[in-house]
Amino acid sequence: MGMNGVTNRTDELYRDDSYLKSCEAVVVEVTDRGAVILDRTVFYYTGGGQPGDSGTLTFDGGSVQIATTIKVDDDILHIPEEGQVLPAVGAKVTAEIDWDRRYSLMKMHTAMHLLCALVPCGVTGGQVGEDKSRLDFDVGDHTLDKDALTERLNALIAQDHTLETMWISDAELDNNPELVRTMSVQPPRNAGRIRLVKVGESVDLQPCGGTHIAHTGEIGALRIGKIENKGAKNRRVNIHLEG
Ligand SMILES: [Zn+2]
Repeated sequence: MGMNGVTNRTDELYRDDSYLKSCEAVVVEVTDRGAVILDRTVFYYTGGGQPGDSGTLTFDGGSVQIATTIKVDDDILHIPEEGQVLPAVGAKVTAEIDWDRRYSLMKMHTAMHLLCALVPCGVTGGQVGEDKSRLDFDVGDHTLDKDALTERLNALIAQDHTLETMWISDAELDNNPELVRTMSVQPPRNAGRIRLVKVGESVDLQPCGGTHIAHTGEIGALRIGKIENKGAKNRRVNIHLEG
């Protein structure tokens, strides 16, 4: 369900606007283990290699630090740090994410799309972090050149490409097979629609549920770190944000 923003009880506001830092919401459940479920949220949950958001829920009578956000079954769980007084079911809260952290994750996540676009190989894994991220490729006979890759990556950033999110139906996808050819994987299908993220006119197009910046120029300078051997044909490319 994660790709498509379909949950039973929580409206995922970041799907349409990843720059939302806070929202008003109502507590619909506090689970036995102390996780808070809201009717709407700006907190992205862990998924697609991107860590869940941390932040604060403020309510009449207190505030709660949220350590991370995860999805279990169909519910988005705001996981509080231990030993805090939680809001009651029905309470109105202001939900605010740690924006600096999220913005770094958005830049990194978007940089992953660019790297994906530059390396014509299958992705076998990845992890987005605030300062450092990595993407693993099954390179086959392809050789990765660290300096050339860094240069091309920074060129895509400097060109300041626009990112767009599009929802398309299963039928639209079936009627536009050329769309599928540009994707490295078959898109997940759920609830009859698919979220696509498009970078520039033709830089990258793929199904993605994550959070992105609006223009690649926001990333600033990037550096490719080590390219590690992880098996005969697997290479791990490490990326660092500069500044
Ligand atoms: Zn993405």
